[in-house]
Amino acid sequence: MPTMQTREITAAARLENVRYAIRDLACIADEVAKQGHEILPLNIGDPINFDFRTPPHLIEAVYKAMRDGKNGYAPSPGIKEALEAIRGEAARKKISSVQDVFVTSGVSETVDLCLTALLNPGDDLLTPSPDYPLYSAVLAKMGLKLNSYDLNEEDGWQPDLFDVTRKITPRTRGIVLINPNNPTGAVCTRAMLGKIADLARRHNLVIFADEIYDKLILDEGETISIAAVAPDVPVVTFGGLSKNYLAPGWRIGWGIVSGEAAAVKQYKEGIQKLLRARLCANHPEQYAIKAALEGPQDHLPEVRSKLRSRRDLTVRWANSTARVSCVAPRGAFYAFPRIDIPEGDEIFVRELILQKHVMVVHGSGFGQKPGTKHFRIVFLPDEQTLSRAYAAIGDLLRERYD
Ligand code: PLP
Repeated sequence: MPTMQTREITAAARLENVRYAIRDLACIADEVAKQGHEILPLNIGDPINFDFRTPPHLIEAVYKAMRDGKNGYAPSPGIKEALEAIRGEAARKKISSVQDVFVTSGVSETVDLCLTALLNPGDDLLTPSPDYPLYSAVLAKMGLKLNSYDLNEEDGWQPDLFDVTRKITPRTRGIVLINPNNPTGAVCTRAMLGKIADLARRHNLVIFADEIYDKLILDEGETISIAAVAPDVPVVTFGGLSKNYLAPGWRIGWGIVSGEAAAVKQYKEGIQKLLRARLCANHPEQYAIKAALEGPQDHLPEVRSKLRSRRDLTVRWANSTARVSCVAPRGAFYAFPRIDIPEGDEIFVRELILQKHVMVVHGSGFGQKPGTKHFRIVFLPDEQTLSRAYAAIGDLLRERYD
């Protein structure tokens, strides 16, 4: 009888650098939950976990589409009425030089397609640090090195232009700008957008403008799209239903390609090729796009008002707690407080789950300046839950370091 030898199937070496700290912590939390403890999840930006609900007219639109038999494949770029609604949204965002729009399975897929369609082996892309880890994961998947630029905590987490400039190499093809930002909650000023656009113009860079939180501005004003500030520069603006329209499980995102027609022609065709190769985005859910963008927007004032008071509570707590300080977030639902502790923030976050059953994400999971330590809070829970979580974090800080 031949002996059966187990031969291990190894994963691709490229995956060494794929990390997604936001979900990776879940294993520790599972252990704690198995012991019967309730975990306070301040780690995942899913509004549906808390007191936010998908607007009913969006649900109706999807339900109707399913009942009407829209259950086959959709056209690869997206259904016509969704594409028209996205063009309308681009106009409201004052993006004038639109060259193409397309629908994807979440902004996650937009990011994957747009980076894959642009980058060759040896190219690089400027990504923010701290960043939303999907960008570094996609780059790692493609076998590309990370070239990150600093966001400056001393300047309200605006991009550090000096750092951006010195990181540009002859192989730099683009720059990612997350505005409003995850994990810091910062919103870019118009002056900053103008300066980044100037750099992109001078160095022939594509700008990836991740504006998935653009309707969640918590103070006066609104998100200014860099594509509106720089109609001549190649920009892909990302948007979707996950955050502004409280439907993350539907996996609906989109891209808006803008810039000079001749400059983006080939690139836009590359994106379309990849869109065809993956068939289509979720079909019935695409019927919610027009309903969302053109229908009632009544949920938004309520969402923003809840987020505003939860943000205020978070900042008040952080800035009155020893060892903690926090730049006030101006958009989205994240805060990225700094902590002054003698050990790594990953250890602190692990202990917080094990001892206090509160889940946040360590700053090192997003990238941060050497020597600094942070954690990211999702301030979606109600005030009572947040207060409980902050009391527990304060307790651990005192017990462990004082
Ligand atoms: N971009 C940013 C900055 C995000 O924070 C997220 C999700 O948290 C995504 C993209 C992914 O969004 P989607 O649910 O549309 O894939």
